[in-house]
Amino acid sequence: MVTYSSRKEVPSAEKWNLADIYQDMNAWENDYQTVIELIEKLRAFDGAIEGAQSLCDYLQLREQASYLYSKLYVFASLQMDTDTRVSSSQALLDKAGQLGQKISEATSFFMPFLLTLDEETLKQYISEIKELSYFEESLLESYRYKKHVLSKEKEEILSKMGEALSSPKQTFGMINNADIKFGKVTNDDHKKVPLTRGMYAKLIEDEDRSKRKEAYKAYYKPYVQLQNTIASTLSAAIKNNKLTSEIRNYPSALERALFSDNVPKDVYENLIQSAKENIQPLHKYMRIRKQQLGVDELRAYDLSIPLVKEAKQVISYEEAYETMLQSLQPLGEDYVQTLRSFKTKRYIDVRETPGKRSGAYNLGLYGVHPFVLLNHQDNISSLFTLTHEMGHAMHSYYSSQYQPRIKAGYSIFVAEVASTVNEVLLIRYLLKQTNDNQTKKYLLNHFIDQFKGTFFTQVMFAEFEKIIHEKAQNEQPLNAEAFSQVYETLFREYNGPGIVFDDEVKYGWTRIPHFYRPFYVYKYATGFASAIDLADRLIKGEQETRHSYLEFLKSGSSDYPLELLKRTGVDLSRPEPIHNALSVFNKLVDEFSRQV
Ligand SMILES: [Zn+2]
Repeated sequence: MVTYSSRKEVPSAEKWNLADIYQDMNAWENDYQTVIELIEKLRAFDGAIEGAQSLCDYLQLREQASYLYSKLYVFASLQMDTDTRVSSSQALLDKAGQLGQKISEATSFFMPFLLTLDEETLKQYISEIKELSYFEESLLESYRYKKHVLSKEKEEILSKMGEALSSPKQTFGMINNADIKFGKVTNDDHKKVPLTRGMYAKLIEDEDRSKRKEAYKAYYKPYVQLQNTIASTLSAAIKNNKLTSEIRNYPSALERALFSDNVPKDVYENLIQSAKENIQPLHKYMRIRKQQLGVDELRAYDLSIPLVKEAKQVISYEEAYETMLQSLQPLGEDYVQTLRSFKTKRYIDVRETPGKRSGAYNLGLYGVHPFVLLNHQDNISSLFTLTHEMGHAMHSYYSSQYQPRIKAGYSIFVAEVASTVNEVLLIRYLLKQTNDNQTKKYLLNHFIDQFKGTFFTQVMFAEFEKIIHEKAQNEQPLNAEAFSQVYETLFREYNGPGIVFDDEVKYGWTRIPHFYRPFYVYKYATGFASAIDLADRLIKGEQETRHSYLEFLKSGSSDYPLELLKRTGVDLSRPEPIHNALSVFNKLVDEFSRQV
């Protein structure tokens, strides 16, 4: 494999061309100054918007500021990520970040002002001035919030209490990131050393079971010790959700969380119910796991280790790109050719170099193009990462091509659909192509484990959140014992009766940061299931599905996420999409059981 000791050595075709955004720093500085001037102009509209024309003037200036700001920020952020050690890049990113702050301060008067206008007046304005129609949907969307926005006085009180209300989340963050001290594990020199998160991720997949066990116990040690402290932060977070939802006139904390995506509560409940009705294949997989690992009792520390080792294939970047394109044929010629062109247009920063941000992501910049960061290694995992990120990139690209800027960004609810569809198409393609049994088994196992982690585990978390919020609603006690009891019951239901419980299992709730961002994780599960359902139909060659899926990729946020998905045939208000996805899972487990 090629390795690089500096960015200079990397061929330019494999590096971003940031000149696509700004030719030089003077151009960046010019736009920065323009935004500073725009901010002053925007400020002057506070208390001064009267009638359709001045409303339109304000919105157009704000749109211009927001567009320039996104360019400034994305440029600074991409430059920073290519080498995080460069202090001038850090300074530029800070400067851009502060500009964003200033824009939101200067425009914070607008939402309360807008809600003082009645809807009829606004519609009248829109009919008077053609240019206002660009903003129509986003303006009218604000009215959906009207009954949840309080009087000016109450809003001020709530905003002053904001910091206090978010303190449980802060406290948990401090415990979890700063103060936590894991137990000790034995290193290769037979010395006891303190466990770190990085070590845990490796050790919990170690083939030596005693190492896995030791790491598991060391990892949970501080969480078990802190169970009462963490229970009190989690309980406070939930009570705050409940309280804020009541104050803002929502029927429940769940409905408040679902409001911004306009998702009815049935979708959430349907997800949990459909998953539980189809839980048997997961239990079956656990039995296969026990058998394959050759253990007499399956324990929590036996659940993360892959059952099949990664086939040691060397796959160059060139080869990976070509394989990806082949696997995405079911998406049609336009998709494949467009994606092919990304490789030579320098949209992708491919190589790992000193100081570069780790991991992988896609960042779409409207009016320019998507930017994808990779740290490509010549192996199969990197092939999956490439295919995943290019799914996001194509979604950004198409939405930017077909939507006005205000509707081009897609919501988190639908974001992982595009990336997962690509991954599933890749895995199906590779399974079909390979004659090597070991590779086949590896791919099936990889797919099943991904299903388990992205779907079942997230649904279990979603149900945990639902139950504990209901307990709060019914004034039942929320303490370590109550949380542990709920968690243990759910863990057993989802993972099946075959697992022998260590004491630590029931404390799983103590280590999950997502519980401080209420009712969020279910989106991983709905996104994943939607993608599985779609990919399954795409592979069958359904013309209609291909057409509607490409339309979906072009739709940005032009409608609510559930509506956009519905047009592809995925109606999450009904049980079918989840059932379809789970029948795919069932087939995978069956196939895997025949192979091993
Ligand atoms: Zn992703």
